[in-house]
Amino acid sequence: MSLSQVASSIPASPTIALNEEARLLREKGEPVIHLGIGEPKNKTPITAILSSAAMLGSGDVKYVPTDGTPSLKKAIVRYSEENYDRVIAPQNIIVSDGAKQSLFNILFTLCNPQDEVIVIAPYWVSYPEMIRMIGATPVIVTPEDGSFVPCFEEIERVVGSYTKAIIVNSPNNPSGLVYPEDLISKIVDLCERKGIYMICDDIYHKLVFDGKVAVPACKYTQKDVENSKIILVNGVAKLYGMTGFRVGWAIAPKKLVAIMTNVQSQTTTCVSPVMQAAAEGALTGMQSIVESLRLSIQNNRDVLMQELHSFTDVHCVKPQGTFYALPDFKAYCRNSVAKNSVELCQFLLKKALVVTVPGKEFGMEGHLRLSYAGTVKELMEGIERMKWALDPNAPSEIYIGDRKLLRDWL
Ligand code: PMP
Repeated sequence: MSLSQVASSIPASPTIALNEEARLLREKGEPVIHLGIGEPKNKTPITAILSSAAMLGSGDVKYVPTDGTPSLKKAIVRYSEENYDRVIAPQNIIVSDGAKQSLFNILFTLCNPQDEVIVIAPYWVSYPEMIRMIGATPVIVTPEDGSFVPCFEEIERVVGSYTKAIIVNSPNNPSGLVYPEDLISKIVDLCERKGIYMICDDIYHKLVFDGKVAVPACKYTQKDVENSKIILVNGVAKLYGMTGFRVGWAIAPKKLVAIMTNVQSQTTTCVSPVMQAAAEGALTGMQSIVESLRLSIQNNRDVLMQELHSFTDVHCVKPQGTFYALPDFKAYCRNSVAKNSVELCQFLLKKALVVTVPGKEFGMEGHLRLSYAGTVKELMEGIERMKWALDPNAPSEIYIGDRKLLRDWL
């Protein structure tokens, strides 16, 4: 069979593949704990349910404009004014099937095959693959000091004549860190000086802890959206727990949005108006939902940190936002149990029925990404099982579901 070389070289998204594996195990009745999943457990906001139900009830669900319904765009204009202090026009917005499609569409619209896009490690798994898919080259910047935040010079050093864009994701998936304001402002300045696009993936921007603020990049530019190099990506998936609705958007200069709209018109036509109505309901409804989600996730983060502290030889940088942490499990990646983070994840799933995601997928070998978007109970039980499976100082017996298991491999 002769297939596209590029398409054939793209692996499945590891997080989505793990979700599927966990789902199949649960279907078989296995008591799996999912610390891999990137979605909060909260129910859909009632305002989102009502507005999408009203749209469905009308029985008039047809094609709508490719770049988004006028009323959702209006809600996004207001959202930008309130949260970013940025005046934008509806023509600066394109609504897509999730922030994921927004990002792909931006990269496809910006890049020629020889172009380079800078990605900071640790990074969200899909950035490098999307860049490869469109024939461009990801240039990964890995902080040399072993931290999760590069110094500005490390980024500046890789900028060349083919650099088209840099993707900045803060609060960051998978580290949970918020990049320092100084770094953000220097990247904005660099992009403006060199004519590089700064793609800000702001999907977690309100999920920040301990009074921390993820200061938006646009605070550091004098330019309005039409003349700016900053492209903003956001969506309802994470802040409102609406992952299944698949609504995201990009804010960019009108010319770019117009080209992105052409691209989208040839691929997906438009986002379902039912889903757009739901997103509008979330954006215009009670925002205390986001705050209570933030508070419960912050509490989960505290529980996770406490549990990890009693884990021998595991170090974790305290997350400042998102619902992920990226603890260092190198001490457990160099023995008979596992040689690397991929093997460690497989081991944990097999022995302890706990889903984690290998750090390798995020450009940080030796780490595991843990999601604390679920319940405290699951989180505590998940870490207890991990300790049992890996830590010789943990008790050697455990109950998993109704099975009593004995550790006999350490
Ligand atoms: N960006 C980041 C950093 C993410 O973690 C995710 C989802 N895991 C997305 C974008 C995609 O969001 P959506 O579900 O809206 O496509």
